[in-house]
Amino acid sequence: MVKETMYYDILGVKPNFTTDELKKAYRKLALKYHPDKNPNEGEKFKQISQAYEVLSNPEKRAIYDKGGEQALKEGGGGGGFSSNPMDVFDMFFRSAFGGNMRGPGERRGKDVVHQLSVSLEDLYKGAVRKLALEKNIICEKCEGRGGKKGAVEKCMTCQGSGIYVQIQQASLGMIQQVKCVCGDCNGQGEKIAPKDRCKTCQGKKTVRDRKILEVHVDPGMVDGQKITFSGEGDQEPGFKPGDIVIVLDEKDHLVYKRTGNDLILRMHIELVEALCGFQKVIHTLDNRDLLITVIPGEVVKHGDVKFVLGEGMPQYKNPFEKGRLIIQFLVNFPTSLPAEVIPRLESCLPPREEQMVPDDAIECLLEDMDPEAEARRREYRNACDEDEGHGTPRVQCTTN
Ligand SMILES: [Zn+2]
Ligand SMILES: [Zn+2]
Repeated sequence: MVKETMYYDILGVKPNFTTDELKKAYRKLALKYHPDKNPNEGEKFKQISQAYEVLSNPEKRAIYDKGGEQALKEGGGGGGFSSNPMDVFDMFFRSAFGGNMRGPGERRGKDVVHQLSVSLEDLYKGAVRKLALEKNIICEKCEGRGGKKGAVEKCMTCQGSGIYVQIQQASLGMIQQVKCVCGDCNGQGEKIAPKDRCKTCQGKKTVRDRKILEVHVDPGMVDGQKITFSGEGDQEPGFKPGDIVIVLDEKDHLVYKRTGNDLILRMHIELVEALCGFQKVIHTLDNRDLLITVIPGEVVKHGDVKFVLGEGMPQYKNPFEKGRLIIQFLVNFPTSLPAEVIPRLESCLPPREEQMVPDDAIECLLEDMDPEAEARRREYRNACDEDEGHGTPRVQCTTN
């Protein structure tokens, strides 16, 4: 039982989440609230990172589950947070980029990550999606100089360093050095006289450009898979442009659930079908109809699982190999039966076992249980327990 659920609520995961569910929840929210896209949601972005940092680390999670946020802040064994939510973000996405090695000292712009929502049908059949993006490109007019040739001058205020060191008088005659971004050149280290500035980019060296990216979603790609457009990130003079990275986000499907290359289908059947056999048509993700048959005499029980080979998801880069279509049968039982049919029905079914009733057996009333009401009652009880047990250890009675 967990003490607090705040971190679970922030990420929208249940306490029994799988690693994949946790990663997906973080990925979705982190991309949505990333400062690049949502500059006003810094606090939310921080909370998301903290929640992920704790829940993805078994040690921290155990501390949190036991003692809540307070226990983590007190730093009980491996607690605490990494201070910077961007570190969590970079770590999460970089570890998955792979192979994107940068030469030492190479000045490279940052990667831009975008999420692309895709249906299970897209991932089954493959799809081409067009994505319109805005990015900075080097101004063609001035070739990224910001002005006419020779118009660029070194900033004399900061001697071209972009940084300005201020000497401040601190208390008791102490002297303090404070580094500031040079205001004259905005930290660029160089200046262009207003009259010499490039008219196209206003001296900024880059201009905004709209670009259409064609994203090829291949059959068998998975949720969270990255498609990298190398060097398509923002351009900046003196920097190698970063990449545009498209992260696939698989939408939930109404009928199918995917695990690896298998597809899972929950199929409701009537009791008569479960007992007497049936035929069912299954509509596939690529619009074919499959026919499955259970012959009369074969009984399908509630919760039985069967599969069709080769009707699951295609394998990535080997699309003619497909996983299984796993079908879980759920039997619809009638809520009541007319009394007059019971003898006929009973005569068809395997006989029941004779029940011996002792003379002193006590007759009891059987009542219906409502699982939802039970869950609510349990939650209420837990909340009361927490209020009582705050701070003081609960007194327990012992007999020996
Ligand atoms: Zn220009
Ligand atoms: Zn300057």
